[in-house]
Amino acid sequence: MLSELDQIEQSALQALKSVQDETSLEGWRIAHLGRSAPLMLLFDQLGKLSKEERPVIGRRANEVKRALEAAFSARSESLRQSALQRSLQSERLDVTLPGRVLPVGRLHPTSSNMRSIIRVFADMGFQVYRSPEAETDEFNFSLLNMPPHHPARDMWATFYTTMPNVSLRPHTSPGQIHVMRQYAPEPIRAILPGMCYRYEQISARKETQFNQIEVLAVGVDITMGNLKATISDLARRLFGQNMRTRFRAAYFPFTEPSAEYDFECLLCHGKGCAVCAWTGWLEIGGCGMVHPVVLQNGGYDPEKYTGFAAGLGTERIMMLKHHIDDIRYFWVNDMRFLEQF
Ligand SMILES: [Zn+2]
Repeated sequence: MLSELDQIEQSALQALKSVQDETSLEGWRIAHLGRSAPLMLLFDQLGKLSKEERPVIGRRANEVKRALEAAFSARSESLRQSALQRSLQSERLDVTLPGRVLPVGRLHPTSSNMRSIIRVFADMGFQVYRSPEAETDEFNFSLLNMPPHHPARDMWATFYTTMPNVSLRPHTSPGQIHVMRQYAPEPIRAILPGMCYRYEQISARKETQFNQIEVLAVGVDITMGNLKATISDLARRLFGQNMRTRFRAAYFPFTEPSAEYDFECLLCHGKGCAVCAWTGWLEIGGCGMVHPVVLQNGGYDPEKYTGFAAGLGTERIMMLKHHIDDIRYFWVNDMRFLEQF
């Protein structure tokens, strides 16, 4: 029986070595110290032993029981410690880790481009004037020297609204009437930036919405020379002192005489390339001296006052500057495009 006890002790301690977690430790406890464990069954048989054998076997059995209990609590403690270590490792809070960087928004490229152009005009003494994006037919056309059925109205494909005679402005020119009526007969030096809308087939070169800046100067002795100087100065301030400009005769109903103006090609600097169709020039916008009828509609006496006006498409300037070959990029909100500016 003593050798049986040795056997029980050895195999129990051996089995304990392979216990790696709380669940199998509890299994071990039931198997080796539980009510039907071999050791416990052996205790039950002590009563059947002789008087001489009983104390010897009993003492040894108690020794084995204490040894197994001690081994059990030692194993239990070491499992608890290693579980604690593991959780300390895996749930460690590293306070030195830098915080995650929040994405910072910025201005849309058309807005920042618009602002840089506005800044140039501000340096030349022009004030920003805001005018509505929805206008009556009167402001969009009639007061700009285009009475109903005037053939020049065909130059603008217009979005009409559900309100009779109200349409989205196809150009920033109706603002000229608003600013003149507000300030007449004072001299004016103003720019009118903002969105314009045209009913166009959308393509790489045409969008139904785009930004324009309208330039307007009205006063005594304003001449075509002032217009040319302003446009040329704008080109130089935007693109450098060597930037050349040219003016070509054109027709607009609200200016007389009218011109279109070109900047020297930004890509080839006048040598000729595919973008400028080998001419060395890029068309930027239209301009001219304010038509006497328009001056009169704005409240100025055309016998006494003159003025010039010009329009420029700001997206067009950005496209030329950054070689952007598709105007649709501006409004699709593709981060790959927007993040480049
Ligand atoms: Zn070119």
